Amino acid sequence: MTETKTQSVPPERWQALVEAVERLAAAETLDDVIAIVRSKAREISGAEGVTFVLRDGESCHYVDEDAVGPLWKGKRFPLTACISGWCMLNDRSAAIPDIYVDERIPHDAYRPTFVNSLVMVPVKAGMPIAAIGSYWSAKRSFGADELALVEALARSTSVAIQALRMRASLRDSEARLRVALAAGDLGAWELSQDDDSLTSSSLCRAAFGRGDNETLDFAALLAAVDSGERERVTSAFDRARAARGDLSFECGIHWPDGSAHQVEMRGRAVLDANGRPRALAGVVRDVTEQRRAQEKLQRLQSDLAHAGRLTELGEMVSAIGHELRQPLTAANNYLSAARTMIGRLDEANAIKSVDKADAQFRRAQEILDRIRNFARKDDGGSSPQDVGSLIVEARELAMIDPRHRGVDVRIETDAGLPKVLVDKVPTQQVLLNLLRNAFEATSGRGHVQVHAGCGSSPSLVEISVRDDGPGIAPEVMDRLFQPFVTTKPNGMGIGLSICHSIIEAQGGKMWAESPPGSGARFVMTLPAA
Ligand code: ADP
Repeated sequence: MTETKTQSVPPERWQALVEAVERLAAAETLDDVIAIVRSKAREISGAEGVTFVLRDGESCHYVDEDAVGPLWKGKRFPLTACISGWCMLNDRSAAIPDIYVDERIPHDAYRPTFVNSLVMVPVKAGMPIAAIGSYWSAKRSFGADELALVEALARSTSVAIQALRMRASLRDSEARLRVALAAGDLGAWELSQDDDSLTSSSLCRAAFGRGDNETLDFAALLAAVDSGERERVTSAFDRARAARGDLSFECGIHWPDGSAHQVEMRGRAVLDANGRPRALAGVVRDVTEQRRAQEKLQRLQSDLAHAGRLTELGEMVSAIGHELRQPLTAANNYLSAARTMIGRLDEANAIKSVDKADAQFRRAQEILDRIRNFARKDDGGSSPQDVGSLIVEARELAMIDPRHRGVDVRIETDAGLPKVLVDKVPTQQVLLNLLRNAFEATSGRGHVQVHAGCGSSPSLVEISVRDDGPGIAPEVMDRLFQPFVTTKPNGMGIGLSICHSIIEAQGGKMWAESPPGSGARFVMTLPAA
């Protein structure tokens, strides 16, 4: 066997490398990569045989070859027992002019082959994961150019394998994202910054009433928004696209078939490498059904609260009759006195008497107005309410019942208390209920203290009603806010459950405390206005 001298690399081999690099860049699978290396490596190296070796745990797997005579295709060797393993373990190339004088070579494995010299280069993807071997029948040395050529092929191969892995993990995370989006009924969309083009998933188009094959562009999306809300929505998009905060809104839309829907949209600016907004990407969800269910629930709660008020008034009806009878009787007396005075031509006193009758009528009117307001069906919505007035008015209603007139009610409100954002009538209903329960607990003769102060957070106001009655019976303590829980012979046991739902519906909380020997204390929090 003769030793050949190295020559400079002919241009066709560089050309073959360029072609291999181009094809590797487009490789879709590991098999593609192996096939490209197999078909091009001999051209590039000018060798009589090439192998592609994959690291498989602790062994080298000779997965493919292209050679003038058989090599080791399909065989596995321990990493420590072959030159490809040495290259991978040491992360270095090996150029071996005479394999039979190199200790790293398992000579027995080479004896049946044509090989006398070789170049082995590792392929890295973070760590060496493969190797490319080139083999010659002649003993020969290798020039730097030749080595550079096969190392360039190895580098391109490693880039191709890393790109494959990245694409695979991207596909994985896209698949996971798709599963998550589908599970949350979320449609995905992306709005390009450059040309306003909108890319949307089929769930996104479905949220806007579009079929799978129909398109949805940004103009159509904005046009679908109810006209009264379009300006708000457009400026929300503008703000988010300028990366001044996230996009988050809910709005009414109309589908092309004319039906009304409600969607919730969230998004965030996607920045380019220079930190400039490139697009706005986000999700959309059709919340029509949820909103309908919520509205229905609210209506039911409001009906229940109203029924509770009527029950409360029903229980107070004889007291109300009594309360009205007083001013009406007084007014009647003043009017008959005035009639007598007119008969005596005492005009001045007759007028005074009519004025007094008028004042009594007004008092009766006030009582009626308060009761009518209380019995009203619609709640009037949330508005800022003065806590002191809410409590005083509820106390006046509670005190209509003559059985409770002996109770000593003290009201304390902390200085500088903010107004609360509540529905006035249902909130008074809660206070009335708590007061009447406290009055009953003290058998109309005890002490009741109402305190309004700043709660644990500045956004809440805390109102408590404390009495010095016997305290809450232990057997009902845990179920106090459930309906039909009562210890009273004629009780319905629905008052507190209604109170609880009224307070929660307004964003507050309600609880009760009854330390042994200290009566009962009911506490509620309400949102500060
Ligand atoms: P009802 O007054 O018809 O029983 P509620 O829901 O208003 O219905 O009250 C449920 C139960 O809670 C009462 O029966 C009573 O046992 C208990 N309770 C409510 N307020 C007090 C209180 N201030 N002191 C002691 N127990 C109370």
